[in-house]
Amino acid sequence: MKKVKVIKIDVDKCNGCRACEAICSAFHAAPKYSSTNPERSRIRVLFDPLKDIYVPVLAGEYTEAECNGRDVYTIDGKAYDECSFCRASCPSRKLFKDPDSDLPLKCDMCEEEPPLAEPLCVQWCLSDALTYEEREEEGEEEDKLGEMEVGLESLVKKHGAKTVKDALARLAKG
Ligand code: SF4
Ligand code: SF4
Repeated sequence: MKKVKVIKIDVDKCNGCRACEAICSAFHAAPKYSSTNPERSRIRVLFDPLKDIYVPVLAGEYTEAECNGRDVYTIDGKAYDECSFCRASCPSRKLFKDPDSDLPLKCDMCEEEPPLAEPLCVQWCLSDALTYEEREEEGEEEDKLGEMEVGLESLVKKHGAKTVKDALARLAKG
């Protein structure tokens, strides 16, 4: 059996306070809680006051190439920009990339030891727009890549394994 962790998003309850962005970026700062910067958050709140909507979007997988096609959503008769609700860290936009290193950001459900009762964005969402659920499903637990492996994987895909290896060797020499 594998454990599936789910954050449910109720867009109608989100008031755009951005507490989720603040706590996520603080939790992932180095050292932990030393800074807040929404651009480093693994959850971003799409904000459109004219259309009267706030949509929290959690960072998903890194993709090395942008899609050949684009999504355009229309909700309640209001059309949203291309790719607005996409979760991917993608070469075509800045969303879900570390602003300094440009490495991809991905939600890790705040995994740490000992485990938290609930992911922090859920705990800090006082409007209950984010709620957490765990369930068991048939199947094996997948090996998850850690933050560093996700970053290294993206560098290898972008520059090739040899370039990354040479750069690491140069760094190791100091
Ligand atoms: S903390 Fe909750 S209400 Fe505030 S922006 Fe995030 S999802 Fe919306
Ligand atoms: S679950 Fe944790 S890592 Fe994922 S968006 Fe929420 S605070 Fe960030």
